[in-house]
Amino acid sequence: MAIKIYNTMSRKLEEFIPGGEPKEQITDYPPVTIYSCGPTVYSFAHIGNFRTFIFNDLLRRYLKFRGYSVDHAMNITDVDDKTIKGALAEGITLKEYTDKYTKIFFEDLKKLNIEPVEHNPRATESIEEMIDIIKKIDEKGIMYNSEGSLYFDISKFPQYGRLSNLDKREIKAGARYDADEYNKEDVRDFALWKAPKENEPFWETPYGPGRPGWHIECSAMIRKIFGKTIDIHTGGVDLIFPHHENEIAQSEAAYGEKFVRYWLHVEHLLVDGAKMSKSAGNFYTLRDLLNMGYSPRPIRYLLISAHYRKQLNFTLEGIKHSEQALERIDNLIVRLRDIKKEEHNFNECDNLIAKLYFDFTEAMDNDLNISGALGVFFEFVSKVNTLISEEKLSKNDAEKIIAAINKLDSVFGFINFESEEDVDAERIEALVQERIQAKKDKNFKRADEIRDMLKEEGIILEDTKDGTRWKRKK
Ligand code: AMP
Ligand code: ZN
Repeated sequence: MAIKIYNTMSRKLEEFIPGGEPKEQITDYPPVTIYSCGPTVYSFAHIGNFRTFIFNDLLRRYLKFRGYSVDHAMNITDVDDKTIKGALAEGITLKEYTDKYTKIFFEDLKKLNIEPVEHNPRATESIEEMIDIIKKIDEKGIMYNSEGSLYFDISKFPQYGRLSNLDKREIKAGARYDADEYNKEDVRDFALWKAPKENEPFWETPYGPGRPGWHIECSAMIRKIFGKTIDIHTGGVDLIFPHHENEIAQSEAAYGEKFVRYWLHVEHLLVDGAKMSKSAGNFYTLRDLLNMGYSPRPIRYLLISAHYRKQLNFTLEGIKHSEQALERIDNLIVRLRDIKKEEHNFNECDNLIAKLYFDFTEAMDNDLNISGALGVFFEFVSKVNTLISEEKLSKNDAEKIIAAINKLDSVFGFINFESEEDVDAERIEALVQERIQAKKDKNFKRADEIRDMLKEEGIILEDTKDGTRWKRKK
């Protein structure tokens, strides 16, 4: 069975064929080439942005789970209207300004257990490639110069508007736009290259000094890294128009070949029914939530758990539900690790695991239906809990089940969650041992002291017949 994904370009579910040519086996395919529009580093990213970045992570992790290799790029937009404005306001260079937010962005990715990708190009390091595209568009007569800025002439590119399903009557040919962002209702020629304004950074080029428009940056980085048609391009739905429409126009006009095979767009994270966005002021950054005492792990769970083509309404209550779901999983793993029984009298374990893989894959193959996949997983969690209560599982079964959970977690990324907090684990373990010894020595004062101290840090101790367990309060 093949993966099916919804292509914004065709508005259909399509069978996923990397490289455009069907092969016998998954391992025969070349690496899947993916480009994800990255952050504009003018401020902290908000968790709406992270919904999209976590989806990119889910996509690459699932492709790897299915046996594909991936070659994935996510850019850093470090020059555009917003970054220039921010640097000017703070009186520092554009590079100083964007370096600060780029560093914070990568720290946030790590906290959310988002895998590093193979390439993280910066727009300002790809100016040469931008000029190369501009030259090619110029040679084809699809560009014009107005007061030192270069514009793409959309009236000379008949395919313009296919991705965003533009009503051609809306197109105002000959009218132009300098702004990086504008509405579908106001379609105009867009700036490939902008003449310098006072105090703005600029680069010298054969077309005169200036700085890039936002759209040309992604076209150039894709060409620089992949050099040909790519398999998948992702971004939030707000990027369909004008950003992705303009990327297609530039790249296909310049190189005369298909730009992208599959366009995947992530629906918005909402707050009270409205898109979470900086401009609306209705946003939370990851830091805001961490400062309120939430952990990154349930935030990842929450953002990953809804299908990417459905809007997701963000609430703090939602994080609490995610904490409960994670607790169910953690408790199951603790119970599985506690199983000591050597004799083997349950013969269905392999079948149970095979069915888990089959149903999980069937759900995910269907346009990355993560909510279906989580349904399958939690059904499995319930079944295993029942089997444990019935004392049917042996130590060997438990090990196999934990291995299967870990395999699914190569896609979920919220079970074995690497976070800075875990560095503390050794210290906690040592205190737990000290408390056990204190109790043996009848030094109950010290034992209680340790329990209270850990409690303050959010560590709960549970005394069981097999010893003392500890866990973090979610
Ligand atoms: P930006 O830094 O504004 O260029 O956005 C980075 C990514 O986040 C883009 O792919 C956007 O489409 C996406 N994005 C922005 N707002 C939201 C939101 N509320 N929900 C989901 N994705 C978003
Ligand atoms: Zn882009």
